[in-house]
Amino acid sequence: MIDQHSLVSRGRRDARLLTPIAYLACVECGKRYQPSPDLYVCHDCGLRGILDVSYAYDRAHISRESLAADPERSIWRYLPLLPITQTETIPDLHVGWTPLYHARRLGEQLGLRQLYIKDDGRNPTGSFKDRASALGVAKGREFGRRTITCASTGNAASSLAGFAACAGVETYIFVPAGAPEAKVTQLLVYGAHVLLVDGSYDEAYYLCNEAAERFGWYNRNCAINPYLIEGKKTVGFEICEQFDWVVPDRVIMAVGDGCSIAGAAKAFRELMQLGLTDRVPRMTGVQAEGCAPLTLAFERNEEPVTLRPQTLADSIAVGEPRNARKALDAIRSSGGTMVSVSDEAILEAMTFLARATGVFGEPAGTAALAGLRQLVERGEIDPDERVVVVVTGNGLKDIKSAQRVAGTASHIRPVLADVERVLEGMA
Ligand SMILES: *Cc1c(COP(=O)(O)O)cnc(C)c1O
Ligand SMILES: [Zn+2]
Repeated sequence: MIDQHSLVSRGRRDARLLTPIAYLACVECGKRYQPSPDLYVCHDCGLRGILDVSYAYDRAHISRESLAADPERSIWRYLPLLPITQTETIPDLHVGWTPLYHARRLGEQLGLRQLYIKDDGRNPTGSFKDRASALGVAKGREFGRRTITCASTGNAASSLAGFAACAGVETYIFVPAGAPEAKVTQLLVYGAHVLLVDGSYDEAYYLCNEAAERFGWYNRNCAINPYLIEGKKTVGFEICEQFDWVVPDRVIMAVGDGCSIAGAAKAFRELMQLGLTDRVPRMTGVQAEGCAPLTLAFERNEEPVTLRPQTLADSIAVGEPRNARKALDAIRSSGGTMVSVSDEAILEAMTFLARATGVFGEPAGTAALAGLRQLVERGEIDPDERVVVVVTGNGLKDIKSAQRVAGTASHIRPVLADVERVLEGMA
């Protein structure tokens, strides 16, 4: 039997749903550009001049009704607000429409009645990054590129490798040598060319951008490629739809470069602009104490300074955040906040989350919950606030961290007497 809502439906996406891009605008100077294959950042502002996509919104065929009638259960249901110009290059691998759980037991333990978990570890390669990679691969193919590259602490890489494999595109991936083994293995399984860089994520990032330019590869780095954040924003569309258009009071997520939270915030703004909703949730960003340049910048109202990351939450170990402006603007203008949490709190949140909900998140994913816990303890969350915690990555990605808090198994012989002994020990 063919499931109407399965992968099969993607090829049937109707190109008439596409909306033209009006322009791309530099976040620093406002200069406008028309899309072209070699355009990444503003020519005047360089790497800081990240470009933001604007559509011809008055021509977007999207409404609550059109969405309700659409059987597509993936990010591609938001085609009218995605920056692609053809539907043939969309990779088949399913992405998005991840579950949003009302986490009642977890909420009770925190004294919150309306706590929700968005489980983005359910994406095909196990993280939120899949939302961006799907767009990256679609755009790369649209621009006729045969090879795509990225630098990553792990998830963006494995995600790109998965979507590229699905589309038959070659990848070169720059990963800091300290990345968790599972993530590197995942890359190799997908057939990516993996370059383990003896250096930090930041060093891998610069090297990757240089290589992309030299060899003519399509660059999937999120802070440089204007289209990827458009994929990330789909999480915000989904949250609104899954709540039947009641915008939550707060959305909490982990922050590294800042692209993810900025993307989510953009979705809420666009829905408001289109008249589908009437407000933006308080966007709340969480960083690890050992690497919190954006939290510090937020608190001091200053530009972020570069730090040397020291945290086990590898996915947010970004010492030099690339999307600081977009992220901080989004958080400030929404009335949100930023916090930082210790590695210990992140690990504690891992078992806390798993044991109350069945959702197993990687450290960056559970950092968001640790951040919420801190805000609750400080009395900054109302018990009736509707809060969404986005768990951005799957816990199986980083078993070593999980082992530190998981506890140990009881080793026994295959006899009932041993089982009894264990039960007595537990009693
Ligand atoms: C990349 C990532 C983040 C942070 O996203 P940024 O865009 O870098 O802020 C959070 N959680 C996970 C699991 C990630 O892979
Ligand atoms: Zn500029």
